[in-house]
Amino acid sequence: MSDKVKFQAIKGVRDILPPESALWNRVEQTAREAFGAFGFSEIRVPIFEKTDLFARSIGLDSDVVSKEMYTFEDYEAAELVELRAAAVTFVGAFGTQEGFVHFTTLVGNFLLAAETAFHAGHIPKTPENERTLQKGRDLITTLNTYRYQGDREILPRVGELKETVRQVKFGDVISLRPEATASVVRAYIEHGMHVLPGNVKLYYIGPMFRRERPQKGRYRQFYQIGAEVLGSSDAPGIDAEVIEMLMRLFDRLKLKGAVLNINSIGDKNCRPAYVEKLRAELQKVREQLGADSQRRIETNPLRVLDSKLESEQGIIEELPRIAEHLCADCRAHYDEVKRQLGLRGIAYQENWRLVRGLDYYMRTTFEITAPGLGSQNAVCGGGRYDGLVELLGGPATTKGIGFAIGTDRLVLSLQEAGEAETSGGPPGKAGGPDVYLAWFGAAAQSAAIGLARRLRDVGFVVELPAVEMKFGKSLGFADRLKARHAVIVGDDELAAGVVTVKRLSDGSQQKLAEAELFSYLRAH
Ligand code: ATP
Ligand code: MG
Repeated sequence: MSDKVKFQAIKGVRDILPPESALWNRVEQTAREAFGAFGFSEIRVPIFEKTDLFARSIGLDSDVVSKEMYTFEDYEAAELVELRAAAVTFVGAFGTQEGFVHFTTLVGNFLLAAETAFHAGHIPKTPENERTLQKGRDLITTLNTYRYQGDREILPRVGELKETVRQVKFGDVISLRPEATASVVRAYIEHGMHVLPGNVKLYYIGPMFRRERPQKGRYRQFYQIGAEVLGSSDAPGIDAEVIEMLMRLFDRLKLKGAVLNINSIGDKNCRPAYVEKLRAELQKVREQLGADSQRRIETNPLRVLDSKLESEQGIIEELPRIAEHLCADCRAHYDEVKRQLGLRGIAYQENWRLVRGLDYYMRTTFEITAPGLGSQNAVCGGGRYDGLVELLGGPATTKGIGFAIGTDRLVLSLQEAGEAETSGGPPGKAGGPDVYLAWFGAAAQSAAIGLARRLRDVGFVVELPAVEMKFGKSLGFADRLKARHAVIVGDDELAAGVVTVKRLSDGSQQKLAEAELFSYLRAH
């Protein structure tokens, strides 16, 4: 008996199938149109980047960087891989002359090849790699002085040498992107986009990857639609317009019950003093807090405000609020953002606990929640990140603001509200195909192929059977596919220069010439 292999999608990732994929397409297409109307253009950035880019921009103490990224070493050093594998997997009698020489030769061969690759720049020319290679050399020398001694002396040194050999880096450490802002900013700097006139307005659509605990609305491969405005201005009107653009998108999608929350988290002038005050207050109630919040008193007190822990809610309510600690500039900026939202007729709630988990946000932060999502109810998060471009090596004068919509959650919310596509047909079309083109006989097949092409060219969705079927079976198929019409081409039709059209909803049937067929199909 043979074992049947059965593959399944990996935990936390999923397939998006028709008809649901039609709804995804509609959401993404609507975003393109809504953002286009505000002068945004699409940027496509890579799925992976150097891990350092994310570590720097998202922050080492964030959950995303500390435990959620898919990270791996990227290299082409096939020969080195083999040489290293031979050295680290060698298990011989190290106490014998033969075994000892064999092992040290394998390690020596590897180190020699690695040193050559290092000098040629084929493996990273980092001080760290240089140190590791030197350490390998030194350990071989030391090992040689233990030659002919017993395993007890030799084995620990062999172990250390193998570990050192393992530590040689063959390539860059890269990660699947957990978000796209860092990549957009990297691209902005790399392509010198700061010389472009006005603000650079970009949007992106695509998958992101985070190793989180999968649950409704939380996946390991999930999708975002996001936008960024980069440039020298941080005028509050930009913040308000970005939010307006989002709300217009949700309007176009007929998303009901979306709630906009906003806050200002100050800037590098006023926030540090607030954070210290918060830390001091948190110290006083440390014992009443959970383990996560206790840890965050030191690492990132702002994030305590994010806590969903029931037992902490009463305590958090009593904590000092950022709004009372904003400097005059941040206060004026925030007031103007709110006034400008008012000018645009956009309703909002102020939420002093809305702090973004990412380090580079400053001043305006916002989040949009939608109904039908349970506890994962944030469909969009965003804010201003004026320090990020400089942090990543770009001009200090460049400011930025952006947001990311969680497409999975947006789609879920639309489905819960009954806005889902019911179509089983191709993307964007309601119902099944317009025409099921049944043909009978070789001459009819040739005619049907030509007719199918002319119908498809003018936009009809046509299903053309690949093999000949019996009449009853063919029409049964048309029914099951929920075709609107069956168009029948057989010898009789060919002889008369017509086709038979049958409307499947009521069975009404008639013979038409091709020219009439097109106008009939348009009208019915
Ligand atoms: P949350 O608090 O829900 O974990 P977040 O603060 O980690 O969100 P952001 O990094 O701001 O989220 O990403 C913006 C949006 O992306 C979120 O509002 C959410 O809709 C979506 N999102 C984030 N992580 C996931 C995930 N694992 N699966 C599905 N959607 C997600
Ligand atoms: Mg998260």
